[in-house]
Amino acid sequence: EKAEIRTSLSHLYESIRNTSGPAMRFIRSRVERMSERWIQAGLKMRQSNRTAPLTQMRVLLYPGALAGSVGQHFEGMVEEGGPLGELVQWADLSACLTILGHDLTFSTSQRQLHRLTGAAPGRGSCPIQRPLTFDLIYTDYHGLNHLQGAMGLAFQYYKCRFRILDSFGTEPAFNLGSYAHSRGFQTLWGSWGLQPLQYMTMFPHTPDNSFLGFASEEAAREGESGPDSHRKHRMAVVYGKQHYMWQGKSEYVAAIGEELETHATVYQPPGRASTLPGFVTNHGLLTQHRFLQLLRRAKVFVGLGFPYEGPAPIEAIALGCVLLQPRFDPPHSSENNDFYKGKPTTRQISSQHPYAEEFIGKPHVWTVEMSNRTEVREALRAILSTEVKPFTPFELTCEGMLERLHAYITHQNFCSPSAPAWPPESALRLRLGPLGQSCASACRRSSLVCEPALFRRLDGADAFTRLGLGCSGAVREASHLSPAYSPWGRRCSLQLDPLLFSCAGAAPSLRRLCPCRAHLPGQVALCPGCL
Ligand code: UDP
Repeated sequence: EKAEIRTSLSHLYESIRNTSGPAMRFIRSRVERMSERWIQAGLKMRQSNRTAPLTQMRVLLYPGALAGSVGQHFEGMVEEGGPLGELVQWADLSACLTILGHDLTFSTSQRQLHRLTGAAPGRGSCPIQRPLTFDLIYTDYHGLNHLQGAMGLAFQYYKCRFRILDSFGTEPAFNLGSYAHSRGFQTLWGSWGLQPLQYMTMFPHTPDNSFLGFASEEAAREGESGPDSHRKHRMAVVYGKQHYMWQGKSEYVAAIGEELETHATVYQPPGRASTLPGFVTNHGLLTQHRFLQLLRRAKVFVGLGFPYEGPAPIEAIALGCVLLQPRFDPPHSSENNDFYKGKPTTRQISSQHPYAEEFIGKPHVWTVEMSNRTEVREALRAILSTEVKPFTPFELTCEGMLERLHAYITHQNFCSPSAPAWPPESALRLRLGPLGQSCASACRRSSLVCEPALFRRLDGADAFTRLGLGCSGAVREASHLSPAYSPWGRRCSLQLDPLLFSCAGAAPSLRRLCPCRAHLPGQVALCPGCL
């Protein structure tokens, strides 16, 4: 059966009918609020004929973070200022799959997971393995554990069908248990031996993973906007749902308060005194709808340094706010920062929201040294004296997310080794990275992106020749740094274990061989001609 673009989300409402709790309420209300935009984006996709229809997939969505005991803890946090970014992503993913015409099952119950994916009770103690009835299973790290428990031996066989929502990403060096262990890349997460592209991130953090993203509020198009949409009050909203996020920031917040009327949406535990400065108007944690209304009136959205890399700054920019956020110098990473410690990534985080800093930038995003009062004040004055239009990167619109997810479902096949390569080899732009740089940054320097799926195409001795390099010897190594060239002794290394191919890998003494490719404007995950 072909997947037909749907013009209603009723299929999704049906599949979440029996779920309950604050997290599912958040998801449902987000989907409902955005439903008209999803439907319009679907219609546009159908008219454009840019994308061919594909077979209808049977898809299971299982956010493990909402199930079992972890789920209880998470649910408790939803209405007290806990993280909501994951829920944003689950809401948008499920809306997107519904519009694309797939057959959805949404579950947050471990017991139901056993029924849906587990072996059938057999005679005596011998359960009968059944074929998995889902073509795709979207889950998260917690869900992987649950699936392993439910599926037993079948887990290994079917794991190529899994897609893991993993906000901050998992780099290849952390992905292979034995390798991570022997090279000191071990973390609490990782080590599942999946294809790194099976991990799906919130922002395009490392190209080793697939960038799933979410759908932001959208800038009203020219002419469609109401009369007030550009009129901004001299007002700031501070980004930070909990009191602790404000600690140690009082100088910075005071500098904001001197220039603008300052608002906050900090969860206020009943019976406890607020520790926010007196000049701050705190609305308490708001529903998403009311939070977005507040942003519509504000001129500046102020980052305090935490939370990292969430959706809210993108929504604020889409509603015409300017994001003011702290620079991190030295950058934050798993080496020096409690939040990133133990996360399977070597990324160096240069500001609270590197995507906003690098992909959007001025006039929408100002990144400042938070402790430098003069710099903060000057930035605020510059912001207040410019009119800034709402902006949404295409890849974070409903249309952009539909296009991207459709391409992934059509082309990403981790189950059959003979599946056609995607992107095709014609997309490959071979580059030799400078000493010490990863392919992610080497490609970016040429305004390209690293494409891990193309590593296989350059992993032969001839790639070195094409780059004009003479090797004194070429060895195959299982390393997240291969293929690479070492100028000392002109040593060339090729890859022994394809699971270790890594855009993120870098070492001071090595020049990486890099598979770069171009990307569509505003859609970094896809290359021209790859749809
Ligand atoms: N949000 C909300 N009420 C508020 C503040 C934020 O519903 O008072 C929403 C916001 O619209 C965003 C989501 O919370 O979509 C996640 O926000 P954030 O960027 O803080 O990411 P998190 O750290 O929660 O994952």
